[in-house]
Amino acid sequence: MKGTSTMTKDVLATFPAIEIKKNEALSHYTNTKTGGPADYVAFPKSISEAKALIEYANAESMPLTVIGNASNLIVKDGGIRGLTMILTKMNQIHASENHVVAEAGAAMIETTKVACHASLSGLEFAAGIPGSVGGAIFMNAGAYGGEISEVVEEITVLTREGQLKTLSNADLDFGYRHSTVQDYDDTVVTATFALTPGKQDTIQAQMDKLNTLRAAKQPLEWPSCGSVFKRPTGYFTGKLIHDAGLQGHRIGGAEVSKKHAGFIINVDHATATDYMDMIHYVQKVVFEKFGVHLQTEVRIIGEDVTK
Ligand SMILES: Cc1cc2nc3c(=O)[nH]c(=O)nc-3n(C[C@H](O)[C@H](O)[C@H](O)COP(=O)(O)OP(=O)(O)OC[C@H]3O[C@@H](n4cnc5c(N)ncnc54)[C@H](O)[C@@H]3O)c2cc1C
Repeated sequence: MKGTSTMTKDVLATFPAIEIKKNEALSHYTNTKTGGPADYVAFPKSISEAKALIEYANAESMPLTVIGNASNLIVKDGGIRGLTMILTKMNQIHASENHVVAEAGAAMIETTKVACHASLSGLEFAAGIPGSVGGAIFMNAGAYGGEISEVVEEITVLTREGQLKTLSNADLDFGYRHSTVQDYDDTVVTATFALTPGKQDTIQAQMDKLNTLRAAKQPLEWPSCGSVFKRPTGYFTGKLIHDAGLQGHRIGGAEVSKKHAGFIINVDHATATDYMDMIHYVQKVVFEKFGVHLQTEVRIIGEDVTK
């Protein structure tokens, strides 16, 4: 592709100090171990590097995709055109009086450890959520009765024009697995969590307890994208899928987990297409049996393979 080779030189030549890979398989980064290639994938290490990449993509009218820890993501097998930024190298975390401030690519799990170390309570529920801070804000991640919305004081984002903006908790209009970050092209770059002083031992004990519960219930030993479907009002997703007799059902290398019916695990070199086919199959069977339409919680991005 003519345009692509010109762009390669430009992207790489413009940002010699930023790690950028061309035609890189995203299966190396997704938690499902599936997904096609990104034309270019960049790993900014700072807000200023992310800003420069965003401004570049904007000026070049290049599609821009932002990924955190890729733990709630299916990238289709045709991959992603344009520039993809993976933020996991923007991962500074600092605790100060009653606050933890983390860059968007920091792992939520590391962020909960920093909070615990600083004897700050409030993030215990997130001790085992395998996403990044930015992904957790985007999704309003939650577990065991807690939600990111309850502890976020404010975030900073870079707009598609590269402007740095601060958004308060109220601006984010959090809902079940929703924040306004989903409605705009902004990239979350930092989050400030407001926490309360606690006892380090108690915080650690709660985190350990929740992680033990998680390991007992979830197939953490297999690649997956966590709970694939949202909870429909009035039902439990796992029970619907269990009652539909779908646990253990396999399409290609993707299987509905026997341990947790809400998870689809990659048991044998699954492709993203296997995942998509399984999602559609589960939705169809559950709808036929119970009249309930399961909506995906997992974010699906990228292109189908062109034949
Ligand atoms: C084993 C397992 C267990 C899980 N348990 C839970 C759980 O208990 N609770 C829960 O809520 N989720 C859970 N998840 C799902 C997932 O970890 C969360 O949704 C997490 O918040 C996603 O973060 P991420 O960085 O991986 O996001 P990604 O998967 O990288 O991205 C998800 C979406 O967020 C967007 N995004 C990511 N970062 C940014 C950013 N900085 N700025 C703008 N947009 C961004 C992406 O474009 C994408 O649309 C689980 C997943 C797995 C695999």
